[in-house]
Amino acid sequence: MIDSKQITQLQTDIKDANHITFLTGAGVSTHSGIPDYRSKNGIYDGVSESPETILSDETLYHRPEFFYDFVMKNMYFPDAQPNLIHKKIAQICNQKGDLITQNVDNLDHKAGNQHMTEFHGSLYNIYCTKCQKAVSYEEYAQGYEHKDCGGIIRPGIVLYGEAINPDNLSRSVNAMENSDLIIISGTSFVVYPFAQLLAYKQAGAKVWAINKTEIPASGINSIIGDALDVFAKL
Ligand SMILES: [Zn+2]
Repeated sequence: MIDSKQITQLQTDIKDANHITFLTGAGVSTHSGIPDYRSKNGIYDGVSESPETILSDETLYHRPEFFYDFVMKNMYFPDAQPNLIHKKIAQICNQKGDLITQNVDNLDHKAGNQHMTEFHGSLYNIYCTKCQKAVSYEEYAQGYEHKDCGGIIRPGIVLYGEAINPDNLSRSVNAMENSDLIIISGTSFVVYPFAQLLAYKQAGAKVWAINKTEIPASGINSIIGDALDVFAKL
């Protein structure tokens, strides 16, 4: 049951804010048919190896076929469409905000968000690890070996064992420092360094979390519920 007083307060905070940063995760895209990473029936559920093992640079280079089969079967949903949450966030960001998303599914782009950082990269920024040439999704869907040079093709997402792109990190820190309102949604907020971004917020910035479960941080206005129901009211 969503408390309507909380919704009204959040609406007021959004209206009054000078600059808003949204921090989002998988829960925002599940309504578009993209499976969550860690929850039950998420993509790791029932898989014999840990996500840290499968989605690692080690696996990409040493077991490219296994890596390729996993990402193609479980992570690519090229026909998925943005839902109301992506669209609402895009609308607010294009007016006075930034989005920092952990999602790699391209849906915020499709929603028209012009102020966004894909913290962990994008599945659709595909390139060859040998010649560095960009490769289309259509070509990658046919196989992981680059036709031009025989190199291994990969998605431009941060794998376990790899560092966050420094430009993404600095853009994210800037957004946090410039915002007087932070809205977290669809993320359990336990994956580092993403969860650490909260440390860069302004001292007086308000923080809201719209999530199915409580997130482990203090001083947060928390709405426990389905983000789709909440964003539909904003
Ligand atoms: Zn190549």
